[in-house]
Amino acid sequence: MKYDVVVVGGGPAGSVTARFAAEKGAKVLIVERRQEIGVPVLCGEGISRKIDDWGMLEGKRWIASTMEGARIYSPDKTCVTLSADVAGNETGYVVYRDIFDQELARRAVKAGAEIMLNTTATGLIKKDNEIKGVKVKQFNEEFEIQTDIVVGADGVESKVGEWAGINTCLKPTDLETCAQYTLTNVECSDAYCDFYLGKEIAPGGYIWVFPKGKDVANVGIGILASFSESGMAKKLLDKFIESDHRLKKGEPVRFLAGAVPVSLPVETVRDHLVLVGDAARHVDPITGGGLTHCLEGGKIAGEVIGEAVEKQDFTKEILMKYETGWKNAFGGKLKRNYAVKEIMLDMDDKTFNMLADSLKDYKFEELSTYSLIKALVLKHPTLLMKLKPLMKMSKEV
Ligand SMILES: Cc1cc2nc3c(=O)[nH]c(=O)nc-3n(C[C@H](O)[C@H](O)[C@H](O)COP(=O)(O)OP(=O)(O)OC[C@H]3O[C@@H](n4cnc5c(N)ncnc54)[C@H](O)[C@@H]3O)c2cc1C
Repeated sequence: MKYDVVVVGGGPAGSVTARFAAEKGAKVLIVERRQEIGVPVLCGEGISRKIDDWGMLEGKRWIASTMEGARIYSPDKTCVTLSADVAGNETGYVVYRDIFDQELARRAVKAGAEIMLNTTATGLIKKDNEIKGVKVKQFNEEFEIQTDIVVGADGVESKVGEWAGINTCLKPTDLETCAQYTLTNVECSDAYCDFYLGKEIAPGGYIWVFPKGKDVANVGIGILASFSESGMAKKLLDKFIESDHRLKKGEPVRFLAGAVPVSLPVETVRDHLVLVGDAARHVDPITGGGLTHCLEGGKIAGEVIGEAVEKQDFTKEILMKYETGWKNAFGGKLKRNYAVKEIMLDMDDKTFNMLADSLKDYKFEELSTYSLIKALVLKHPTLLMKLKPLMKMSKEV
């Protein structure tokens, strides 16, 4: 078997990369270990409406509900309301991730990509240290697939980068452990995604409530692995649901547990190799949202890979156009938000309350670092010291 490109992982990052490479004429294969694309769902299913401008998904079948904005609650329940335009990567639509992922895969196939399900990549084939293909296992059969380019789109647990010698290890302070219920019979009919912050509610993370149509909502928690003991995410989530009048009569129709990388991105390119999506650590370190970057980064990767195939040049030099591309598109934001995450880790609940108090009446024109700092410092000048590292970054990013 020989392909120009083998994409390991049929999640959003893999499908979008496959699509754009195939559109440029590359012969592309997606290998996916699951038996169904997008299933089981491991996601809060919130995504920014800016994806409308990218035209990557046809129709509306993948949309569960359309959001008008987000509300962020501090530990004392002070509320900051943001419109969908400024609320970040997770607020715009709540989607059906299984349908969403399958729609992206459909577009990849339409462009000419092939998909092999129930197929797990188990290693890289190398000759004289040069990547020549992928070893896979399908049921009990093991075989090799030759390829010029391997794309690691294998999510948070990515092995492809590691096999190529890239350090993809995550520190406990750079990993969120998550649990989520999809609850039915809840009273969350308005079009706002809610976020609850606080060291006691969700240490190093937050609780989210994303309405998903009539009476249904995704209610989840992410806490930093460095703060969590076994089962703690679920315990804190259960406690929150029990105390919330809108949620406590709800019953679960789905439960999931997963992890999100909240580190800085890793090296994403080597000769014959590209990493995309969660495998590249392209997740927003503050919110844990990764979907928009899968789409944006996947498109850049696919186009660059397509060019490499056209030129039959698979060197790091050619593929680096992808790394430059994603750095220009969202690299600065990831760097800035990683710095903000680090600052937030040192904040106590009192500081979260002060932050929310500063921002609750603020009219955000844009959610820039500068506008945030201005709002904060006007009301609580003592916050200035805590936010000093951000001042420098706001000039850089
Ligand atoms: C609880 C939770 C809630 C989240 N909520 C949101 C949210 O609301 N909004 C948002 O934007 N982001 C959210 N995220 C993050 C988002 O889900 C990820 O950023 C996104 O799924 C990354 O897409 P991906 O294609 O990189 O990886 P994935 O979607 O993880 O896809 C990777 C694929 O690779 C396959 N695979 C892995 N290893 C192999 C192998 N060896 N061989 C073959 N196949 C393999 C897997 O089966 C999987 O299908 C959430 C994550 C979690 C865990």
